[in-house]
Amino acid sequence: MPTATELCIYYEALRSYYAGRAPERNENSPPFERVLRVIAGFGKADAVLGNLRGGLPAGEVLTPAALAAMPDVALERALRPAGLAGSKLRKVRGLLNVLAGGASMADVPAFRRELVSMRGFGRESADAVALHALDYPVFAVNARTYRLLKRHGFVGEDAGYAEMQDLFQGVLPEEAGVYKEYYHLIRQLAADFCRAAKPLCAGCPLKGYMEYEPDD
Ligand code: SF4
Repeated sequence: MPTATELCIYYEALRSYYAGRAPERNENSPPFERVLRVIAGFGKADAVLGNLRGGLPAGEVLTPAALAAMPDVALERALRPAGLAGSKLRKVRGLLNVLAGGASMADVPAFRRELVSMRGFGRESADAVALHALDYPVFAVNARTYRLLKRHGFVGEDAGYAEMQDLFQGVLPEEAGVYKEYYHLIRQLAADFCRAAKPLCAGCPLKGYMEYEPDD
């Protein structure tokens, strides 16, 4: 079984392989828009935010209060480009409820806890929001991360979220920029090589670190 420190080697290997292909960033948007972008999903956010703006009354801007007034049917329609519109709708409503309850995005740990307690959110989504939208240094684990860790023998089939998160957080510098970059590198790796079915190990930048070929 590889040690967690090898994740630092993977990080450098991926950075080197994908050098010059910067991850998507919308760091200049207001925090509320950045949170919506994370919920919509990378690659779909522009379409979703365009729809949300288009669904508002003329002259109104994208604020929590404006979205809260939008009927579910219109909100779900606006979220469709992101896929899983029903699940995204629950997340957006959860977010709006947290904000309506007085939570501040400036207090990220408290805001993150509030999100986790909301229907539709889990730790994965709340951590993704905290990291990508609010620059809070927490490593956000997702299915692609699990796939990579499992295929390379870092974790077993039944690995839990915290176990996987601790692996990364235990060896990487505690910096949002590093966690974000690694997240995007794994996302790109999963798109190019480490697919859910039939991974393309030949040619993968991490092929040299495989002990055996995965069978799924
Ligand atoms: S070598 Fe294969 S299993 Fe490993 S990351 Fe690449 S595609 Fe995935």
